[in-house]
Amino acid sequence: MDQSNSNQKLRAQVAAATRIMVMEDLIDYSGHVSVRVPGRDAFIIQSGIQPRSDVTADSLLMVGFDGKVIEGNARPPVEIPIHIEIYKARPDVQAVVHSHMELAIMFTMMENVQLKPMRARAIRWRSGIPMDDDPSHIKTTEQGMKLAKALGPHNACLMRAHGSVLVAESVPALLVDAVHFDENARAQMTVLQAGREPKALTDAELEMIDKHEMREFHVDKLWRFYTQKAIRQGAVEEHSDLFFD
Ligand SMILES: [Zn+2]
Repeated sequence: MDQSNSNQKLRAQVAAATRIMVMEDLIDYSGHVSVRVPGRDAFIIQSGIQPRSDVTADSLLMVGFDGKVIEGNARPPVEIPIHIEIYKARPDVQAVVHSHMELAIMFTMMENVQLKPMRARAIRWRSGIPMDDDPSHIKTTEQGMKLAKALGPHNACLMRAHGSVLVAESVPALLVDAVHFDENARAQMTVLQAGREPKALTDAELEMIDKHEMREFHVDKLWRFYTQKAIRQGAVEEHSDLFFD
């Protein structure tokens, strides 16, 4: 696949993932999904102003690590340093979502409670779910670097009283992680609301889950499930670029 076709596929995936996350209440009027452009210090992301439910492959911007727009005619989101600094700090990361998932954020506002892996799919956050203590919007390079540092080698980071970032190896994987991150926060919150002590997965249990993990298959299955659901509900247009090769 040549580079322009490949970028078109990435654009289609970002647009679909964004719309699906809106449909599933994983992002709202703010928040953004991005994907790294292979071989360049750049990534694809929506503009700041466009409603998340309206994002299309063609409306997305390509933005460089200097924050300048390379392709497109709109202003990137003001919180663009989130994406820039994470891509710079984490060469392994191909896709990033910043969102304001309501349940997950609650865990930055409770004393003596930490969001932990509760459900089996939370194996993804086995190494920990750190928090950046800056409660303001991430508008500067310094703030972005601080957030990337808080994220460290992990796959999720909460942002005090504000939101979260998730990172993954692809856009479909990122969508799957967003679904499970929300489910996991809901599980822990439900236990707390029942007035009980949350019983997070132990290291031994996580080890067992890890042994049987089939991430590629699972990502493929859920990506198909959510894209088909969105197509049937009219939130996403059917397009061959949406599926794996
Ligand atoms: Zn935000």
